[in-house]
Amino acid sequence: MEPGKSKAFDLIVVGAGPGGYAAAIRGAQRGLKVALISREDPGGTCLHRGCIPSKALIAAAEVVHAARQAKNIGITYAPPQIDYAALIASKDRKVGQLSKGLSELFKAHKIEFVSGEATLKSAQEVEVRQIPSGMLALYQAKDIILATGTEPIRPKGFPFDGQLILTTDELFKITRLPASMVIVGGGVIGCELACAYNILGSEVALVEQLPTLLAGEERLVSQTLQKSLTRRGIDVLTGVAVTEMKKLAGKVAVTLATGSVLEVDLVLVAVGRGVGQDLLGLDTLGVKKNGRYVAVGSHLETSLPRLYAIGDLTGQTLLAHGAAEEGICAVENITGHAAVMDYPSIPRVTYTLPEIASIGMREEELKKLPHKTGRFGYAANAMALLHEEAEGFALIHTSEEGLVLGATVVGPQAAALIQEVALVMKNHLPITALMETIHAHPTFSEVLHEAALDTAGLAIHKFSKR
Ligand SMILES: Cc1cc2nc3c(=O)[nH]c(=O)nc-3n(C[C@H](O)[C@H](O)[C@H](O)COP(=O)(O)OP(=O)(O)OC[C@H]3O[C@@H](n4cnc5c(N)ncnc54)[C@H](O)[C@@H]3O)c2cc1C
Repeated sequence: MEPGKSKAFDLIVVGAGPGGYAAAIRGAQRGLKVALISREDPGGTCLHRGCIPSKALIAAAEVVHAARQAKNIGITYAPPQIDYAALIASKDRKVGQLSKGLSELFKAHKIEFVSGEATLKSAQEVEVRQIPSGMLALYQAKDIILATGTEPIRPKGFPFDGQLILTTDELFKITRLPASMVIVGGGVIGCELACAYNILGSEVALVEQLPTLLAGEERLVSQTLQKSLTRRGIDVLTGVAVTEMKKLAGKVAVTLATGSVLEVDLVLVAVGRGVGQDLLGLDTLGVKKNGRYVAVGSHLETSLPRLYAIGDLTGQTLLAHGAAEEGICAVENITGHAAVMDYPSIPRVTYTLPEIASIGMREEELKKLPHKTGRFGYAANAMALLHEEAEGFALIHTSEEGLVLGATVVGPQAAALIQEVALVMKNHLPITALMETIHAHPTFSEVLHEAALDTAGLAIHKFSKR
């Protein structure tokens, strides 16, 4: 663009992660002239250093796990050899392929993709330092959606160097498999990666200062996961804080509040995410915050008119599909199709072994509400037994009237199974919709079906006193 000139659009979206690109595409589908500004290739945290790289490691770990388990059904392989650099190269190829696919979609939708770092000048103007030229350009629009995501929290006092002491921003670029590692933080990211690295062959200690892993899940889930990780050889240390980290000759000495010291090859700090340094200029413009995040109303609007914020920036879900749905919701509001977010029907998945998926309310939140709970274990499921994956359970909570309030699945295909409950909850269907749906045999989905039947004491492969 010529210096000093500005370009006008109906909609500018800043940030091309799952929230921003979904918003841009929906905007184009609704007939808006859209500019999408991003300082990196399309895909955001999710594609470049989040969901997809972490699941590449988990997918590899599942192959190794299956090969090791195979001996239980009479098949023996030689011990799996892991070429970690090749694994990372394969991940990079897939990330590149997916990012390129997004660029092609933008072209097809006639979305103008602008490569650069954006700063807000007003609620309708964005200044972009273009990449790679460094030239400044001004973009204007009737509506602006901010989708710039979050960054890992780096506690002061930990000597981060991006090599030995790092966050997930750097982890997936490392091409050597650490022989030993400490993961600080027993939330979703810490648990998933502890599981993957343990199976790939690293000696892993997982340190969490709260009393349980996955503090946001049902207590039974945290207990089941902790037992499973411990059985697999992960040193799970809950209720313990890390007090100091020191680098010494290619190793890191990690001191715990108990006084014990763990000497390891690598430390991953995964203690949460928040909005980073204010490069966007939110504070200068006086955009209201809600703690570490941007405050938004029910239509995703910020405190400034026609300026919207979505995705991790708002801290509402910290999930890729939550960000995408918020992006779509904001655009529907901009284009006059009234929409509000339905947060309770957003599923959450933790890709550990066993896999964990949940939706809606947990048992602990339901204590004061009259409710019924149906339970069924994978141990009584034929498909789970055939696959040597009989650990885990499904729980479904309903109101007295039979409306589904929440569910949790721990076990094989949990992520796929929870979608059935999402469909029921999103459409406010009664539990009978799940109970009366015929589930094919033998499938893992029978676990969920039986849990639904169990809310009325009608599970077939379980004896329940009525
Ligand atoms: C290790 C890990 C694993 C995860 N696994 C999952 C998972 O399995 N499932 C799931 O649902 N979620 C997962 N998440 C969370 C998920 O990645 C985020 O919820 C999601 O990426 C948020 O999307 P977003 O569009 O809000 O922001 P982001 O994806 O963070 O995208 C924001 C984009 O904006 C760009 N940007 C920032 N500031 C500017 C600026 N001033 N100018 C221009 N561009 C800018 C950034 O560079 C980035 O590209 C994971 C996260 C991590 C770290």
